[in-house]
Amino acid sequence: MFRAKAGGKIQWASRPSETTMTKYVFVTGGVVSSIGKGIATACLGTLLKARGLKISIQKIDPYLNVDAGTMNPHQHGEVFVTEDGAETDLDLGHYERFVDQDLGPLSNMTTGAVYRSVIERERRGDYLGNTVQVIPHITDEIKDRIRANALENDADVAIIEIGGTIGDIESLPFTEAIRQMKMDEGFDNVMYVHVTLIPFVGPKNEMKTKPTQHSVRELRNIGITPDILICRTKMPLSNEMKNKIAMFCDIAPDSIIEGLDAEHIYQLPTTFERQGFASRVLKRLQLPDNPPQLSGWEKVEKTLSAPQHRLKVALCGKYMEHAAQPDTYISVVESVEHGALANEASAEIKWINAEDKEGIAQELADCDALIVPGGFGERGVEGKIEAIRHARENGLPFLGLCLGLQTAVIEYARNVAGLEGAHSTEFNPETPHPVIAMLKEQRTIDQKGGTMRLGAYPCSVMSNTLAEKMYGESLILERHRHRFEVNPRYHRTLEAAGLVISGTSPDKRLAEMIELKDHPFFIASQFHPEFKSRPTRAHPLFTGLIAAGLKRQTDRSQRNGHGVSEISELHRSIA
Ligand code: GLN
Repeated sequence: MFRAKAGGKIQWASRPSETTMTKYVFVTGGVVSSIGKGIATACLGTLLKARGLKISIQKIDPYLNVDAGTMNPHQHGEVFVTEDGAETDLDLGHYERFVDQDLGPLSNMTTGAVYRSVIERERRGDYLGNTVQVIPHITDEIKDRIRANALENDADVAIIEIGGTIGDIESLPFTEAIRQMKMDEGFDNVMYVHVTLIPFVGPKNEMKTKPTQHSVRELRNIGITPDILICRTKMPLSNEMKNKIAMFCDIAPDSIIEGLDAEHIYQLPTTFERQGFASRVLKRLQLPDNPPQLSGWEKVEKTLSAPQHRLKVALCGKYMEHAAQPDTYISVVESVEHGALANEASAEIKWINAEDKEGIAQELADCDALIVPGGFGERGVEGKIEAIRHARENGLPFLGLCLGLQTAVIEYARNVAGLEGAHSTEFNPETPHPVIAMLKEQRTIDQKGGTMRLGAYPCSVMSNTLAEKMYGESLILERHRHRFEVNPRYHRTLEAAGLVISGTSPDKRLAEMIELKDHPFFIASQFHPEFKSRPTRAHPLFTGLIAAGLKRQTDRSQRNGHGVSEISELHRSIA
């Protein structure tokens, strides 16, 4: 089998498994997609890790794209970038946030990647003239990748989610491979969790178990009997229903876990714990069930149900992006939530349409903070610049992310440094002042992402800056996904005009963070801090933004004659 070494280099080794100590949990979905299979998978990881077990987590996407880098975020949601620069499915973002563990390059497997490896090997002649087939060559490649990810993480338990819905043509090689895993690794070392939906139908709004029965039958047709069923439902399942499902699906009634709708996904780890999900898994795998350490999640749950403060954070993006697909900015939205949780607050996001430049100042009037997130393409750029100007001039706390930094630099160049017509060459190649440009060396940086700077890069944080105050560290690692940079030719001019470059690449060539001195909170990063924020460990830039937003709210209300206690009262009444 092949083995992944630290640093992502893949080496070949002989099969069968050296990972017999690893137990495998496969999570499949039935009935319909989007019923929270990814979150259930992530929660299981959280609960096992909370018991001191080492886990690995992996997502299988049965589509033909080799990775998510080329996929349209409108159709598929955000592209999540891992530490080593893999462009992956947004579910991996959920995994990292819930499990609080960085994922490696083998954490996302697509049909495209699997076939590409097999076909490349066939072209090299590695199969010695044999006929290359789905079984065993594709299925072996899939199993090798599953084991390699477990091995790389030295996992006690490897959790693998199969994307799509059982019965899909394209997931068949994967379901066949995971069926075989039970023979390879042994009955006690492999188990299957199936997530289904219990719909409400008919004039009497009855809960129906039939789709679940069909879905389990479909699974059993391909040789897999689920050990645990998670039934997504709006209402609690009666014992009678559990017994019925148990009988038809050949599953013990206490292995049927109710996946009740939660108000917030971060309530789910503790909810699943109370349902005994992890304990059932451990029992089936014959592993000890130590008491879990869930104090961080209990605190999250408590804050979610009774936040001390509330605030409104403006997110200024292209209208179509958030209207058609809220998942486009999912990591940013989640990070705002984390920053709020760290401040015992609840944040409401106000989506601001960057294409309505004229209406922006008014839209921002009732907001406590502004975020301009990353993006590609010219649409909405002038509106983003306008929003940033408003934040800069009015002391509105501002956080710019990637394109958010670039637009902040353009705004400063034009309106403060007097560089008329300053722009990014991404949007105007003819600009007289290309303050944002693609650097020559950038073009050769990384084959994988073409010309993109992808994954974690070190950044030196300048002393006595807001950035240093936020991070409390002088060298940080943050994840990138962009082509353009602040043009080094303009660093000095911009600094002379008052812009502080508070984070740079260690060789000082690239500006990684900028900020302003005479402003309560104005900071932007060329990287994407949202990829590293976690609910139980919020990213400092988001914690800082929310704290600044809350402070502004308090200051404003005091100016308007309300005392602090009245404001809390006000918050409660809004709640
Ligand atoms: N379009 C910009 C670039 O490529 C910003 C990218 C981003 O925000 N992720 O540099």
